[in-house]
Amino acid sequence: MKNLTRRSFLQNLGIAAGSATVAATLPSFICNTKMYDGKKLNIALCGLGRYAGYLAEGLQETQFCKLAGIVTGTPSKAVEWKKKYNIPDKNIYNYKNLDEIINNKDIDLVYVVLPNAMHKEFTIRAAKAGKHIIVEKPMAITESDCKEMITACKNAGVQLAVGYRLHYEPYNMEMKRLGQEKVFGQVRLIEASLGYKSGDPSEWRLNKALAGGGPLMNLGVYCVQSNRYVLGEEPISVTAQFGPVTNKKLFAEVEESITWQLVFPGGAVGTSTSTYNCSIDRFFASAENGFFELSPAISYGPFKGRTSNGELNFPVTNQQAVQCDEIAKVILANKQLPEHISGEEGRKDMKILQAIYEAARTGRKISLV
Ligand code: NDP
Repeated sequence: MKNLTRRSFLQNLGIAAGSATVAATLPSFICNTKMYDGKKLNIALCGLGRYAGYLAEGLQETQFCKLAGIVTGTPSKAVEWKKKYNIPDKNIYNYKNLDEIINNKDIDLVYVVLPNAMHKEFTIRAAKAGKHIIVEKPMAITESDCKEMITACKNAGVQLAVGYRLHYEPYNMEMKRLGQEKVFGQVRLIEASLGYKSGDPSEWRLNKALAGGGPLMNLGVYCVQSNRYVLGEEPISVTAQFGPVTNKKLFAEVEESITWQLVFPGGAVGTSTSTYNCSIDRFFASAENGFFELSPAISYGPFKGRTSNGELNFPVTNQQAVQCDEIAKVILANKQLPEHISGEEGRKDMKILQAIYEAARTGRKISLV
C-alpha cells in the first residue's frame, strides 16, 4: 500500500468526520487535521541522497514546514532539485559555502542527511550559522561526537533533534504505550531485529570511515531505541557476538551481522540482531500476561501488528511528514523539543552501540552503569 498523506488517510478512515473509536486510540498528532496558515519552518536538506528524496516528498505533505533550501556536493542535483521543488538560487549551498547560510534569514533549520561520519561536522557548522538542526540516525559515530554536537547547539542557542521518525508512528507508539503502561504486565523479553541483504561494494555503509560501523550503526540503532522506549528504562549491561563473515570482500571493514543482549533494571532482556545478509524487520515483546508484536516493524511500513488480544489497526502515515511537522510545531512555538527526540537521546543510543561493539570484540559483558 502506498504511503498516504495524513489528511487523505484520515479522510479515508472517516476520522476527519469524527470516528471516535479509532481516533480515541490514536496519538494526538495523527488527529490534528486543522489547516495551518501561519509562519512555516523553512528547512534546507543537506546531502541529497536516497533518504533526502523521501524527506523532500514528505515535506510536500507537511503543514508546518517548507522545503526552502538544499546543500549538495553535486551540481547536477542542485539544478534538478531547484526545478523540481522551486528552490531559489540564494537558498542553494554546497559543502564549502554552507557557512554563508548564517546570512540567510529564509532558512530556519538544516536537516543533515549525510553519511554518518559527516553528521558531526555539518551539525556543528549549521549550529554555528545559527540554524536549528535535525540530524539523521545514527546521530554520529561515537558518543563523544554526540557530546560535541550537543554542546555546539547549546552554545549557539539552537535546537538539535535526531530524525527518529518512529517516535511519531502510531504502531510503534502503541508498542511504547503497551510496554510503559504495563498493559500486559511487566515486559520480560523483547526480540527486535532489522536486516536486509547488502550487495553493492561501492556503498558508503560498507566503508568504516564513513559509516562508523556496519548494520549495528545503520539498523541496530532502531532495535536499541525500541527496547528503550517500550521499557522506559536504560539498559544496565550488554553481551554481544559478531555473526560469521560469509562475504569477506564485501565485509572487509564493517561487520556483516551482530547479535546482542541488553539487560534492563526491571528484569527484562532485549535480544536483537542487525544484519546485512538477510531480511528481517520485526519487534516482539513478551510480558507477564500477554504479548505484543509488529512485523514489519521498523521500515517505512505499512506496518502490521497484533497483541494477545488481537490485531492492531492504525492509520498508515507519511512518517517523514509527521515527524517534520511535529518537530516544526515545537520550534515555531519557541518551545524546547521533547527529550525523546533530542540530541541527548541520540547520545544515549550511541553509548549503547559502542558498548555492543566492545562486548562483541572482547567477548565480555559490558556494564552500562
Ligand atoms: P545516500 O548514499 O543515498 O546519500 C547520501 C548523500 O550524502 C549523497 O547522495 C551525497 O549527496 C552526500 N554525500 C556527501 N559526501 C558523501 C560521500 N563521501 N559519500 C556518499 N555520499 C556523500 O545515503 P542515505 O540517504 O541513504 O543516508 C543518509 C543518512 O540518512 C544516513 O545517516 C542514514 O543513516 C540516514 N537514513 C535514515 C533513514 C531513516 O529512515 N530515518 C533511512 C535512510 C537513511 P550530494 O550528492 O547531494 O552531495
